[in-house]
Amino acid sequence: MRFYHDLPPSKLRNALSRVQHWHIRFNNRLAKWVGGCVLCGRTTAEATLSSRLCAVCTEQLPHHLSSNLSDTNEFHRCVQCAHLLTTAETHCLACVTEPPAFTETLAFADYAEQLQHALLQYKFHNALHLAPMLADLLHHALLHYAHTHQPDVIVLVPQLDARTSERGFNPLRLLMQHIALSSIWGKTPPIYAPDALIRLHHERLQIHVKPDMRRKQVKNAFAVLDKALFENAHVLLIDDIITTGATLNEIAHVLKKSGARRVDNLVIARTRKTPLK
Ligand SMILES: [Zn+2]
Ligand SMILES: [Zn+2]
Repeated sequence: MRFYHDLPPSKLRNALSRVQHWHIRFNNRLAKWVGGCVLCGRTTAEATLSSRLCAVCTEQLPHHLSSNLSDTNEFHRCVQCAHLLTTAETHCLACVTEPPAFTETLAFADYAEQLQHALLQYKFHNALHLAPMLADLLHHALLHYAHTHQPDVIVLVPQLDARTSERGFNPLRLLMQHIALSSIWGKTPPIYAPDALIRLHHERLQIHVKPDMRRKQVKNAFAVLDKALFENAHVLLIDDIITTGATLNEIAHVLKKSGARRVDNLVIARTRKTPLK
């Protein structure tokens, strides 16, 4: 009889990935059988944002966007980086002093409470049954953005290939598979180009890193594969979370060097920070 430590590393990896896939399939089945809210299990009849969320969990999501699509900045955030503002200005002090390469950022919610939990479970613990619900939130943010903007190209913050094999999936791409851009932009949807950018190296997780350090870490981490696509284009860049904005800023730089005339960001969650003046 052979034990796991006798197995060569590649076989062990395959065996682990098989277990991981059973786990994912089991979770998905469970979510289907049990039904109800993916966060608390309650059943609900009056879902507003997502049919997979009960009214109580929807209410508790720390979201920024009102259900009225014309109301673009109900919670008064910096137009450029989506930080909370206490004054009537449109931009925070940081964006005025050192303007990022992107023009606007739209964030669905704060990276806190249930949403933080759901994103962590989804990305790091293979809770793939949360994908349709998270895709609904992303869809809602896209509807808000589409109300006033018509981008030419949509790209995603790329994940390193090695990371995708390690995780077994690409979290952002999986969410986008649930979204039909034609249902948002009608007959002239933007070109969806998830392969137009690649990530060249990956840095450590970034939550506690100072902005300066973060900027150095992401320097030269991205490259454009299809330059022609971005010539004079208005690009919408999608990510799950914005923290310091350094990653998005670096990509916006790269896109602009490739000819993009404007880059905006759309994210599911924005980490909280003390409001800037
Ligand atoms: Zn719930
Ligand atoms: Zn700002």
